[in-house]
Amino acid sequence: MKKHNFNAGPSILADEVIENAAKAVLDFNGSGLSVLSISHRSKEFDAVMEEADRLFRELLAIPDNYRIVYLGGGASTLFYEVAANFLGRKAGYVNTGVWSKKAIKEAKRYGEVEVVASSEDRNFTYIPKGFAVPADLDYLHITSNNTIYGTEYHEDISSPVPLIADMSSDILSRPVDVSKYAMIYGGAQKNLAPAGVAFAIIREDMLDRIVRDLPTMVSFRTHVENNSMFNTPPVFPIYVLMETLRWLKSIGGVGEIFRRNREKAALLYDEIDRNPLFRGTVEKEDRSLMNICFVMADGYEELAPEFMEAAKARGIVGIKGHRLVGGFRASCYNALPAESVRVLVECMQEFAAKHA
Ligand code: PMP
Repeated sequence: MKKHNFNAGPSILADEVIENAAKAVLDFNGSGLSVLSISHRSKEFDAVMEEADRLFRELLAIPDNYRIVYLGGGASTLFYEVAANFLGRKAGYVNTGVWSKKAIKEAKRYGEVEVVASSEDRNFTYIPKGFAVPADLDYLHITSNNTIYGTEYHEDISSPVPLIADMSSDILSRPVDVSKYAMIYGGAQKNLAPAGVAFAIIREDMLDRIVRDLPTMVSFRTHVENNSMFNTPPVFPIYVLMETLRWLKSIGGVGEIFRRNREKAALLYDEIDRNPLFRGTVEKEDRSLMNICFVMADGYEELAPEFMEAAKARGIVGIKGHRLVGGFRASCYNALPAESVRVLVECMQEFAAKHA
C-alpha cells in the first residue's frame, strides 16, 4: 500500500531525491565508487559542496555577505554554539515552545538571557507580537516554526539587534528576507536531508562579534574559513541536501513550494475547521504551514484511537501528536504531495460521516 508520510522529522523527501541518492550509493556519477566511500576532499565532493552552495543561495536569495556552513551535531548543538560564539553579556530569546526553551537553557550557560516575549501563558498556541526588543542585547533569538506546537511566524520580524533564527522546520518552505537575519540555522532533517547535518547561514560581520576564545570546532569562524571542511563533514547527508535543492529548483523554487504549501495547509485546516469531530489547537493567524496540529473536538475525545486506526488503514503514517499537545500532528513538509493531504482529509470526512 502507498504510504502517506506525515512524520515530523526525519521526514519525507522527494521520491526523485531518494532515487538519485540510492543510485549514488551504488555508483556515484559513474565514478565506480559509492558516495558513501568517497573522500570529502575529492573533486567529486567539492562539486557537490559548490552546487549546494550555489543552489541554496539562489533558492533563498541569500546575499553575498552571508556564508553557508554544514555542521554535525544537529540544531541542538547549535543551541549552545550560538550562545558560546555571540553571548557576551545578555541575549534576548522569544519563548515559543520546547525548542526555544532548550535554546534558552543552553544560552544561560554563557550569560544573561532576557525572555523578551513568551506564549507559554496559553500553552504556546500563538506567536507573540509587538514586543519591545531592548537595544543592548547581543542578539535576539527566535524559533521561526514550532514543530511541536504548530505555530509559525508568517513575517520576518525587525530587530534592532542581530536576529538569529532556528528555522529547522520551515527552511526553504517560504520566502524569507535573509537580510533581516544575522544568522539562520537548523537541523536539515525535515525539508532538506536525512538526519546527520545541520546548516547555518551566517552574515560575515558576525564573525567579528565572536565574544570568547572557543574550542576550534565550536567557533563558527573555523567552519566558515574552512568551507565546512575543517574536519570530515557529513558527506552523505550533504549530498542528499544538494539533491533536494536540485529538486526544489526543478519544480519552480521557493515561490512555487510556498504556493503548494499554502494550498496543502488550507486543505487540511479547512477540514479541521469544518469537521465537527476535530478542532485545531492554534490561533488561526499563527498556524504553521508545516506542522498542523489538531485534536478530537469536545465530547469526541475517546474516538482518537479509532481515528488513528482508520488513518493507518489508509497508509497514513506519523500523525500522532507530540505528547505535550496530544491528538494529531500532520507534518506537511515541502516534499509531501497534496495527494497525501487529500487522503487524510477524506479519512476525516468518512470518520465524521460514521460518527457525527
Ligand atoms: N529546533 C527545532 C525547531 C526542531 O524542530 C528540532 C528537532 N525536531 C530541533 C531544533 C532539534 O534538532 P536536532 O534534533 O537536529 O538537534
